[in-house]
Amino acid sequence: MFTLAASVGHDGQRPERKATPIGLNRKGDAMKIVVDFDLCESNAICMQIAPDIFEVRDDDFLYVLNEEPGEEDRARVDECVQRCPKQAISVQG
Ligand code: SF4
Repeated sequence: MFTLAASVGHDGQRPERKATPIGLNRKGDAMKIVVDFDLCESNAICMQIAPDIFEVRDDDFLYVLNEEPGEEDRARVDECVQRCPKQAISVQG
């Protein structure tokens, strides 16, 4: 099951922009990825580091595939935070 959420789209509407698998990879870990889609320029740097977590699709929007990855992914997520040129990614927890 996927929950879709959105920021601003081409037509002024708020299209669905990210897909979060519900019930997957929820291990009670506190880490939660937050992306400021108003800052993101969809250059896919985060996707190169963690393609299982971030995906820039053909529509040129970034989708967060897993907002709550496990602790084993923290180093890669931290690298995404550090390397994002727009400082659009933050981690809570
Ligand atoms: S690295 Fe930053 S600007 Fe680039 S797609 Fe990821 S969140 Fe967006």
